[in-house]
Amino acid sequence: MTPSLAGCRTVVVATSNPHKVDEIRAVLASEGLVVKSLRDVGGGGIAEPDENGATFAANARIKAIAYARALGTWVLADDSGLEVDALGGAPGIHSARWAGRGAGRDERDAANNEKLLVALAAVPLDRRGARFVCAMCVADAEGRVLAETRGEFPGTIGMSPRGSNGFGYDPLLIVDPDGRTSAELATSEKNARSHRGMATRAMARMLVQFTPAR
Ligand code: IMP
Repeated sequence: MTPSLAGCRTVVVATSNPHKVDEIRAVLASEGLVVKSLRDVGGGGIAEPDENGATFAANARIKAIAYARALGTWVLADDSGLEVDALGGAPGIHSARWAGRGAGRDERDAANNEKLLVALAAVPLDRRGARFVCAMCVADAEGRVLAETRGEFPGTIGMSPRGSNGFGYDPLLIVDPDGRTSAELATSEKNARSHRGMATRAMARMLVQFTPAR
């Protein structure tokens, strides 16, 4: 019988970003896993751990372990961002607040996109290669790391933003030969190809081994 997660586990996604929860839930729910947000389990008040890791993977681990211990349940955390070749991999782990810490998420995203366009103003399209990266970690109630995965979504940084789906740098990463940005993909299309979709599907495959055989 094919291993299945059905009916076995609930996992809390440790993020306040509803877009991320939706993207992760879309994949894990189809594997039978119950996906809850921090808000669903009343975890909004838990002190955010200091994300002082040097890599996406280290930061995902820090978050997963801290929230899993605090909540006493399986927790999935991801750390993600954009690496731009012409900027030596920046903004990288600093993607979320690259242009500053203030304001709400939408304002931060707009300021980040503006900063990226300015930084690449003199760089031609054929040297604007970039990728979204996602590192994912699931820890159990004791803070043990159960599984870690990674995904990448390569593309080219466009000359101006296009599209309104998704979040963050989606309107600037051209991911299609026909020129569509990640923000011009339907959610299901993005999940099928994205860094987070790839890391989440790999995670679902790894979590199967921690569930009882049926
Ligand atoms: P995190 O919440 O610390 O993982 O920060 C991730 C940041 O990287 C986001 O705030 C976005 O700026 C960027 N990012 C990560 N994944 C995506 C994506 O799927 N689309 C667009 N931007 C992304």
